[in-house]
Amino acid sequence: MKDKIYVTQPSMPSFEEYAQEISSLWDSKWITNDGDKVNELKKQLMNYLSAQDMTLFVNGHSALESAIAAFNFPRGSEIITTPYTFISTIHAIVRNGMVPVFCDIKPEDCTIDSSLIEALITDKTVAILPVHVYGNVCDVNRIANIADKYNLKVIYDAAHAFGVKINGKPVANYGDVTMLSFHATKVFNTIEGGALCYNDSVIKSAVENIKNYGIQDEETITNVGANYKMNEFQAAMGLCNLRHLDEDINICGMIIEEYRNRLEGVSGITILQPQDYVKSNNAYFPVFFANKAIRDYVYNALRSHEIYARKYFYPIANVCDCYKDEEFAKPDTTPVAIDMSNRVLCLPLYRELSKDDVDAICRVIVEEGLCQAVN
Ligand SMILES: *Cc1c(COP(=O)(O)O)cnc(C)c1O
Repeated sequence: MKDKIYVTQPSMPSFEEYAQEISSLWDSKWITNDGDKVNELKKQLMNYLSAQDMTLFVNGHSALESAIAAFNFPRGSEIITTPYTFISTIHAIVRNGMVPVFCDIKPEDCTIDSSLIEALITDKTVAILPVHVYGNVCDVNRIANIADKYNLKVIYDAAHAFGVKINGKPVANYGDVTMLSFHATKVFNTIEGGALCYNDSVIKSAVENIKNYGIQDEETITNVGANYKMNEFQAAMGLCNLRHLDEDINICGMIIEEYRNRLEGVSGITILQPQDYVKSNNAYFPVFFANKAIRDYVYNALRSHEIYARKYFYPIANVCDCYKDEEFAKPDTTPVAIDMSNRVLCLPLYRELSKDDVDAICRVIVEEGLCQAVN
């Protein structure tokens, strides 16, 4: 094989398209602080996502941290979430002085097992923070019912779910607030970037206070805020990428079909079934092997061909170095999450990946990885 194949490659416009998009910044000299590009991107994204309201951020993590901070929960409050997520989710909780309470996941889609949430609620619980994993969506209606019953807030980490729809309804229409990530590795990118979408306008004003140092106007500073603003160059990248997004998603859908054709029914490989009420964004293609040893063998077999798949998510939050000794870690209470994490490999998936690449990847997995590993 000619080139190294990484798990993903960022979507980028042509150099000429980006140069055209940013050229006006040399006239305006307005390169950050809510400029035209950021405002235009926000308008187009709200339209694309049918979002009621939105705030753009310099990255997804700062959006999530701000969302949690905006509710002003008492320090030491508990937030129910899952360990099967990118570590950002858990850091956002802990850096806000809150305690994550880990709920297990469902093996069929890797999202929070909503049947286990109620048993974890205590008098310290203030919110549920579910994660839409690989673009698979959580049990949004059941979670809303539980939140209503116990008067809890719902903050969604939808970093994997940009553009996903549930029975035709945009994913950001669920929960009090939903975080999106526009990191280079995500379906839609602004190089680095993120957003919050709201169904709660009180929270929006609290968030916007945090985002720009708590500065209201030249002479009024009301909050201990921070600096999480998206700049004009990021927004310009977003405006360009948005033009090609639907095409990117369709092409990745065809690559996923190709993988499915090659790997479905192969003994020793489990592929998640698409949720039939969900319009997917074709962002990830995770496969699961029989055990950790085989997963690691396949991972290394791919590496020897300069194909870099990713153990994603591994290690998960309740066994990683910085949290494993915390009282809240309790890995024994999330056996499904631990097991899925030990067996998962996300295969390369991006627009430029050719049919021949997919073919080569699948051949290494099946012929060199699986066969050798079990012998
Ligand atoms: C990417 C990601 C984040 C963080 O977003 P950034 O834009 O990289 O800061 C948070 N949660 C999940 C599940 C993610 O995949």
